[in-house]
Amino acid sequence: MPERYELIIVGGGPAGLTAALYAGRSRMKAIMFEKLVHGGQVATTQIVENYPGFAKPVAGPALIEAMVEQAKSYGCEIASGEISEVRVEGNDKIVIAGGVEYRSDALIIASGANPRTLGIPGETELKGRGVSYCATCDGPLYFGKTVAVIGGGDSACEEGHFLTKFVKKVYMIHRRDQLRAVKALQELVLNNEKIEILWDNEPLEVIGEGGVKRLKIRNKKTNEEKELEVDGVFFYVGTIPDTDFIKFEIEKDAAGFIKTDDGMRTSVPGVFAAGDVCSKELRQIATAVGDAATAVHMTGKFLLEKGIS
Ligand code: NAP
Repeated sequence: MPERYELIIVGGGPAGLTAALYAGRSRMKAIMFEKLVHGGQVATTQIVENYPGFAKPVAGPALIEAMVEQAKSYGCEIASGEISEVRVEGNDKIVIAGGVEYRSDALIIASGANPRTLGIPGETELKGRGVSYCATCDGPLYFGKTVAVIGGGDSACEEGHFLTKFVKKVYMIHRRDQLRAVKALQELVLNNEKIEILWDNEPLEVIGEGGVKRLKIRNKKTNEEKELEVDGVFFYVGTIPDTDFIKFEIEKDAAGFIKTDDGMRTSVPGVFAAGDVCSKELRQIATAVGDAATAVHMTGKFLLEKGIS
């Protein structure tokens, strides 16, 4: 017989860990699964400045460690295991993790989102050899070197600024003449002498053999093409939801993020979603933890209505 729970939580980032905390405090029989390490994208974020309660910026891994400890202290089971499949059979939610089947009455999907690739020539070929999606992981490899950062959102600005701890120069390649990032992060970039923003430019090709040598870009206004000499290229062109393991019909938006109502209910009864995997305006730690608290609250109501808890 597969192990049975009232609630299975998929994902161990801020949303998953908050769900685990709230489920534990509600004395639900619950288990949270994380792929390899806890924390999701936050675990690779060097500095978190906008999570309330920390007057000084807190490191992502330290914040996650505290969340794990807090969640564990209320008794929710926390397991490591790659989830290959989640499906729904009648009222049962079935999760296959590490080849083992688990069943539950309710499910919270908090699997987050991953960096999007751009798909330009050289990007895949040079991934891990100069092409990166994680400044926190790879930044120290570029000490004294020159790199390019693609994008103009929060991630590009935050990570571009972080890279200047190590590198000599950052070219920031942005396709428009205005940054998308929140003002505080824009200021970090605009006031950083090591960052040169190349406005209205799009990347065309990452060039190099065995390592990145140059980045070809085109100015969208003048059509002028040029090649920048760089040792690395960091892509920050948005995120895609991590939903490949979902093997049942669930309503999503055009970009593939899961649609929820104000109770974090999805289109499937007993299935809730929280955090970056959801279709929403603002993807932050603060919004993820709020989603998760609501999702567990509504899970409690769902279980009560079904006469399960
Ligand atoms: P994002 O906000 O979607 O920004 C993606 C950037 O990449 C945009 O500047 C976009 O340009 C550019 N881009 C997209 N497609 C492109 C293409 N085909 N060619 C060239 N450029 C392209 O993604 P993000 O910065 O990764 O942020 C994702 C979410 O996480 C956001 O909700 C963000 O607020 C959140 N986040 C928050 C923090 C924080 O609060 N500290 C830190 C990181 C991320 P356009 O501007 O022209 O569209």
